[in-house]
Amino acid sequence: MTAMTEDSPALYVVPTPLGNLGDMTQRAIDVLRRVAWVAAEDTRHSAPLLRHYGCTARLLAAHEHNEEAAAQQVIEHLAEGESVALVSDAGTPAVSDPGARLVARVRLAGFRVVPLPGPCAAVTALSASGLTEPHFLFYGFLPARARQREDALRGLAALPYALVFYEAPHRILETVAALAAVLGPQRTLVMARELTKLFETIHSGPLGGAHDWLLADANRQRGEFVLLVSGAMPVGDDGEGERVLKLLLAEGLPVKQAAKLGQAITGVGKNALYELALSLK
Ligand code: SAM
Repeated sequence: MTAMTEDSPALYVVPTPLGNLGDMTQRAIDVLRRVAWVAAEDTRHSAPLLRHYGCTARLLAAHEHNEEAAAQQVIEHLAEGESVALVSDAGTPAVSDPGARLVARVRLAGFRVVPLPGPCAAVTALSASGLTEPHFLFYGFLPARARQREDALRGLAALPYALVFYEAPHRILETVAALAAVLGPQRTLVMARELTKLFETIHSGPLGGAHDWLLADANRQRGEFVLLVSGAMPVGDDGEGERVLKLLLAEGLPVKQAAKLGQAITGVGKNALYELALSLK
């Protein structure tokens, strides 16, 4: 294998617009004009888009049902010195889209994989959500079946991170109902719909009211959605830990013992209570 240089053939991972053609970066356009091949999730879908940006590369199909075979084709082109761009129907390939297995195979074969920054619905929605958690967890699509969906949500319910989901219009009502049922009505739900498109809507409110808000106008259920839910409060962060701790300290218990007993009574973490007790003393 020759050493990798800027000129060596590469697989470029190229995000494409979510809806607004103006969101393509100049670098993405340059890459699409330069490569010999474009591996596309749906060649018929991508062909007009690629023409729009002046890309004349040959197309090959790389979707979830042929990713292994497509990877083999891509590796052959790279071995012949031809660069390839990977695109999906919209947004960033490999983010709830095909591409991850293809990328893995190409990396394993020792070729350069060059990611280009660009449109991604999750990040776009997060940036305007107003959720202030310092961390977020990107989940993508929840399972379609009710039982598996609820199990998945139960596994996420205690996490203190903003949760980010993708959803299609035909499942939006049942998914929002499941979010409220498992995560509770109090947490904030941000529904970011049709981002970068004509009917872009970003609605924020308590999870408990979201289902009715969607039902109030059928148009609100149309289009593509990113759903963002505020993170769980730490267990006992409703003031109960502090209240019990104060009582124990008032009874004259040493800090360490008060924290230990406080944990047993409220379930709040011992270390957090210990720190709190020190600050109360
Ligand atoms: N790879 C894409 C990305 O980078 O965001 C995601 C592809 S995934 C198959 C499609 C889902 O992304 C949609 O069902 C929706 O949840 C979300 N999505 C895509 N475009 C969107 C848009 N314009 N507004 C809101 N959500 C969008």
